[in-house]
Amino acid sequence: MDNLFQNKEELSLKIKERAIIEGFAVSRIALIPGSSRLKLRTKSLERWLENNYHSEMKWMEAQRRKNIESLLKNAKSVLTVGFNYMSEKTQKTKNFKIGKFGQGEDYHKVIYNKLKNVGRWVNDEIPDCKWKICVDSSPLLEKAWAEESGLGWIGKHSNIINKYYGSWLTLGFMILTKELIPDKPSKSLCGSCEKCIEKCPTNAITEPFVINSNLCIAYHTIENRNENLPKYIQKNLNGWIAGCDICQDVCPWNKSVPLNKNIEAEPKQWIKNLNVESLDWDEKQWAVNLKGTTLKRIKPWMWKRNIKAIINNQ
Ligand code: SF4
Ligand code: SF4
Repeated sequence: MDNLFQNKEELSLKIKERAIIEGFAVSRIALIPGSSRLKLRTKSLERWLENNYHSEMKWMEAQRRKNIESLLKNAKSVLTVGFNYMSEKTQKTKNFKIGKFGQGEDYHKVIYNKLKNVGRWVNDEIPDCKWKICVDSSPLLEKAWAEESGLGWIGKHSNIINKYYGSWLTLGFMILTKELIPDKPSKSLCGSCEKCIEKCPTNAITEPFVINSNLCIAYHTIENRNENLPKYIQKNLNGWIAGCDICQDVCPWNKSVPLNKNIEAEPKQWIKNLNVESLDWDEKQWAVNLKGTTLKRIKPWMWKRNIKAIINNQ
């Protein structure tokens, strides 16, 4: 069945507009299989994996990540969206610091629900189009597709940077079987800046765009399942309990960005008040607090481990 729109341009504009109406800060489109830069990004991923820079994140090795078509038969286009998680209430400096991406509602759920609404709109307007939502958990070269679609460029700290929203964006993707009009891929605007590399306390950015997770505070506080954090990480925690935003905080593109005024971006109350008393919380208390946040990935014993490491290294 034909869609109700006059042409691909109109349909492409409407679907991006729909995403913005749902509450995304930015939305763009890329065509599959994408330009040669996707091949370059795939090669970079291979080198990163060969160096074991993904540490224990073994899911990054999934071969399907290299082939978007394996995620949806007859995939033709990707709608890429960015959710702005920077709220005016976001915790910025405190004794116990939490990555800004994790302070509000679980972004997976927020993005998924919004994209599902876009999908319902697609069902009505383009009934012959199939779609699939990917938010973090699908094997997809997410940042490469975001860059390909013009949503932003991959900064030297390896996060996507949008010209207006900086890197305070979590990403979502909708793969569609409808061919749409693509946006222009983003060009890097990092220029000669190397602030993120210089300011990383553990030298985890081994070269532009390459993060060695084994040296990264964000990786260790969230993903490391060992009883103790490595000594060099402990020494450099400087208050970071969950995640680390240093390389993004120093980025000039993050200096004055629009804030998200919606409740879903607001930090949870317990995050605003987090202090050493949290060491006394039992499993039940942690479960209540972590419910509905992406931080539930960090188990209560890991929170305690991280807090103790901060206190012992002050
Ligand atoms: S998140 Fe922190 S430790 Fe990791 S690369 Fe950025 S500044 Fe370095
Ligand atoms: S701090 Fe500089 S080099 Fe690093 S991502 Fe931002 S603009 Fe790029």
